[in-house]
Amino acid sequence: MPAAPAQILSRPARGNGIVNRMTTAARVFMPADLRYDCHACGRCCRDWMILCSEAEAQRTLSRDWGELFPDLKGVPVFEPPVQMPEGRMYRLSHKADGTCIFLDGNNRCRIHEQLGSAAKPLVCRIYPYTFTHTPSGIFVSVKMSCPSAIAGKGRPMEEQREEVAALASAAARDILPTPISGTVRFTRKLRLPWTDLIGVQEVFDGLFRQRGIPFFPRLVSVLRLARLLSEARLSALEGGQAIEFCRIMGKDFAAQASAGQMIPPGLPKTGTRIQFRQFLRMFTLREFVDFAGASFFARMKLQIRFFTNGLRFALGRGEIVMRDLGGALPLPTIDAMPPPPAHPEIEAMFERFCSSKIFGQLTYGPNAGGQPYLTGIAVLGASCAAIGWYARASAYGRKSAAVEPQDVAEAIRIVDSTLTSSRIFFSTAARAVVAGITHQDAAERLVWAWMAAPAPVPAVVAPMPV
Ligand code: SF4
Ligand code: SF4
Repeated sequence: MPAAPAQILSRPARGNGIVNRMTTAARVFMPADLRYDCHACGRCCRDWMILCSEAEAQRTLSRDWGELFPDLKGVPVFEPPVQMPEGRMYRLSHKADGTCIFLDGNNRCRIHEQLGSAAKPLVCRIYPYTFTHTPSGIFVSVKMSCPSAIAGKGRPMEEQREEVAALASAAARDILPTPISGTVRFTRKLRLPWTDLIGVQEVFDGLFRQRGIPFFPRLVSVLRLARLLSEARLSALEGGQAIEFCRIMGKDFAAQASAGQMIPPGLPKTGTRIQFRQFLRMFTLREFVDFAGASFFARMKLQIRFFTNGLRFALGRGEIVMRDLGGALPLPTIDAMPPPPAHPEIEAMFERFCSSKIFGQLTYGPNAGGQPYLTGIAVLGASCAAIGWYARASAYGRKSAAVEPQDVAEAIRIVDSTLTSSRIFFSTAARAVVAGITHQDAAERLVWAWMAAPAPVPAVVAPMPV
């Protein structure tokens, strides 16, 4: 097995409350369709800040790393701690090229190689698994920021049950987020019992898995069902009627999609377009990490550039910067590129992305800034639209006119990194953007514009006067 993974938890979770309730016998639910094994690409040890809790840092510091790895003699293992809402967090030191000081030239973790997996910081051992504690047990999933998880490379998750359950127990001590409670915020006004929510989720999941139907109509069916449920007076439905209602409507949408009778949504409205561009920018915030140690004036310059570029970008001009994709990404050029083609590999990646989020209970509640379940489904749709945009951006960065599966994989990595590892969606500004892209049928329109509509899409690309 390759030397294992690393992890960022730039949103370290609050887990202390569940420690006493978590037992080694907790039920663990594994996703049926996902596969993963580490293939030692080293990305997670290169791309992320590795944040450890105080206890984890003390454990790591109790060893003389300079004795084991002479090049680390006198090198601080951690950077100065940063204050987070959960307490002081310690970031593993990185080399000048951004890689973790423990990563060797072959993308192997030297701690893992020399001392075994157990000696690594817990966050490194856990990545890319996610664990969500619910009234039924722990739901396991994988982050799609890991290239192996996106590609579905590795053993089926079910075959990893024992080792994953052990990791889940370790995570329960200080990593797991606040558990999902017995009633879940379904809409802004309605809470559903957890058991009802699982029933509804099965319907969404069933719609996603209609493999005879192309992914785009499947996704739009899911979004339409979520919208219908948001608009329905569900508070009048009791005792599992919400599930029944959902099943009936789900069957109806599935039948329409499979008969090719689904009416495509219209193009996004002006306000949605502006909010969607803001949404796209949220995925570039990692670009700021390197500036953390920059001088005051350098930071000011960057802030001003970010703000003015952002304004122009929101209004349909300008660019965003993403070094992974070759630097500046000019909006009008990328808008005008063709959408991802219908391709089985691309469809499978989108399906894995959605499935990992839904099964892992990652789209709502404590894992997603407290947002209601149905809002989370709409955000998932808008995230697929963002993947459609970033896939074009990736192709542009490669100087290719057409999107290929590798571009979609890169786009999923970019989008997922922010969705499951960042505090960004917990901010007030992000809530305003989310409200815009999930309003009424906005998410369906975005999906149509960025995943399926033939390019160019004039109503979307037309820049607005600055
Ligand atoms: S400690 Fe090892 S697994 Fe963790 S980030 Fe560093 S190299 Fe990667
Ligand atoms: S990103 Fe995934 S495949 Fe690459 S080293 Fe990390 S866990 Fe392994």
